[in-house]
Amino acid sequence: MHCPFCGAEETKVVDSRLVAEGDQVRRRRECLVCRERFTTFESAELLLPRVVKQNGQREPFNEDKLRAGIQRAVEKRPVSTERVESAVSQIKHALQATGERELPARAIGELVMEQLRELDPVAYVRFASVYRRFEDVSEFNEEIERLIGKGSGSQ
Ligand SMILES: [Zn+2]
Repeated sequence: MHCPFCGAEETKVVDSRLVAEGDQVRRRRECLVCRERFTTFESAELLLPRVVKQNGQREPFNEDKLRAGIQRAVEKRPVSTERVESAVSQIKHALQATGERELPARAIGELVMEQLRELDPVAYVRFASVYRRFEDVSEFNEEIERLIGKGSGSQ
């Protein structure tokens, strides 16, 4: 993204928000050379950040992979396809709204966990157990107890 004032290539995003029902991202950018600020509208579809894996490899964000992960977590649980789709689009929305070009895989995992926590506690624990790689069973049990505690507390 070139600065329209001095042509410099180094610009930084100072604000990023979704507009036009999430189809576009409006960004305020600041030129790192001349310090002028300008606004850009970019297609949200193109703006899903690349995923930085733990070994440092980058790969394009893969919606199918995300959906498959959620479906695996909610397998045999009373969660409709519609709600899975809604979770997928909320995660994409959150990713686009970050305005980041790259995000660690872990950050996406956290977003998935947020959605699963709302969808179904069992699916959440299934996913979290893999994602957070619990050190031992007691940690895993703590998480389940915490969820059950939370559930009964809200009744
Ligand atoms: Zn400039």
